[in-house]
Amino acid sequence: LADPQVAVPELLGCPLEDVRPAPTQPLPSQLYRAAGDQRLNSTGADLADPAQRAPLAAAVAATQVQAVPLASPTDVQDAVVRLQGGFKAWSETPVAQRAAVLRRAADAMDAQLAPLCGLLVKEAHKTLADCVAEVREAVDFLRYYADEAESAGDAAMQGRGVFVCISPWNFPLAIFAGQVVAALVAGNTVAAKPAEQTPAVAAACVRLLHEAGVPEDALVLLNGAGETVGAALVAHPATAGVCFTGSTQVAKIIHKTLAQSGGDRVLIAETGGLNAMVVDSTALPEQVVDAVVQSAFRSAGQRCSALRLLCVHEAVADGVIEMIKGALAELRVGDPANLATDVGPLIDAEAFTGISAQVARLHREAQLIAEGRVQDGQVPNLLPPIAFEVRDMAELKTEIFGPVLHVLRWKGEPDAVIERINALGYGLTLGIQTRIDTRAERLADLAAIGNVYVNRNIIGAVVGVQPFGGEGLSGTGPKAGGPNYLWRFVRPQALPGRP
Ligand code: GLU
Repeated sequence: LADPQVAVPELLGCPLEDVRPAPTQPLPSQLYRAAGDQRLNSTGADLADPAQRAPLAAAVAATQVQAVPLASPTDVQDAVVRLQGGFKAWSETPVAQRAAVLRRAADAMDAQLAPLCGLLVKEAHKTLADCVAEVREAVDFLRYYADEAESAGDAAMQGRGVFVCISPWNFPLAIFAGQVVAALVAGNTVAAKPAEQTPAVAAACVRLLHEAGVPEDALVLLNGAGETVGAALVAHPATAGVCFTGSTQVAKIIHKTLAQSGGDRVLIAETGGLNAMVVDSTALPEQVVDAVVQSAFRSAGQRCSALRLLCVHEAVADGVIEMIKGALAELRVGDPANLATDVGPLIDAEAFTGISAQVARLHREAQLIAEGRVQDGQVPNLLPPIAFEVRDMAELKTEIFGPVLHVLRWKGEPDAVIERINALGYGLTLGIQTRIDTRAERLADLAAIGNVYVNRNIIGAVVGVQPFGGEGLSGTGPKAGGPNYLWRFVRPQALPGRP
């Protein structure tokens, strides 16, 4: 592989000059049609530095998660009435003031990194590295939407009314905050329904927003199940729209409910994916396997961006599979509070049971490549990361929301592989690993996929740099953290003479 002339020139399908020379450095990871790779100015913490690590570890040890009250049907009705009442004052607050409130909340959130990480570890069972990244993403969302709304101006940022925000447990702070503040800064009032599994993180975020100046009657938190509280909010005719992140199945139900109610109630949905990475015969195996481990197993695979299907060219498949076996033997699967942990637990016992059943099915239907090893026996819901070889893409029945990787060998043209991935119907993330830049460009063009990453992992989209969101069964758009997002939350109005 080191020298393409010696490797597999007949498989390249392009002039040899187009192949990057065998690298001594990692291959460049282009971000297609995106500007760069810089974060906004959230502070975060360097976990390699003991002085920065210590307060986070102390906060985790000290944190206890409190139970929260659940909303009754009457609470839901009262909240909508209250938010309707608060709409006039909040929507008429100048957008610069609304943006200033978000910036104050961002500063407070940045300053509260340690207690927020404590809650995230204890309630969502995320590793400390994931928690630090999540707080940064939330802060970035606040600052980014503040800037976007302010530059759009008062005439453009006129809210639609009471917005319903329904968010998932896998990013209980970043996605919760991103949805809520986008709706707020655009001039809406918000009924926020967080996932049942992570109400304490949501409560901390709402407290912080209220303290920063969001009026009590502009943002109400309603805890409870999707089937009750979420459904009642979606069905409520006085709500103007729904921002939802979660399963494709639930998004379809919400879509139907909104459509049946008539009018212009909007849906912004971000759902699941059957995300693939296509590796050709020129790719750098070490880089591929590093990207695979990050994409498939970080956050225990509980990201909708996570890698589910690795499509690897047959000429390099054996080598890549051997390295995946090695990587699985190395991964530390254990307590999320332990800094050495690479893969933490699943969110709860229900997820553990469901995914274990899928793994049992794969043991019967597919070829086991390797399985990781659980280190901390006393931590509940730890599922070792696992990889299976499949013979056909059709064997991927549904998204398995855990650390389970499918590997498929391919030969022939990579374009045909992309066409088969497109045919799965989802379109969230895609990885391309190649030393041929023209091929990466062509495959990205061919892919009906929202977020395409080349020669890198496929998770961790950065606010303002890689707007995140898919197409097809993966969501309605617009992309979160991108320039089009806020426009869906406002009343579109044409008024001749006004810019
Ligand atoms: N934005 C996250 C990422 O790029 C994924 C969000 C999700 O899982 O819903 O990894």
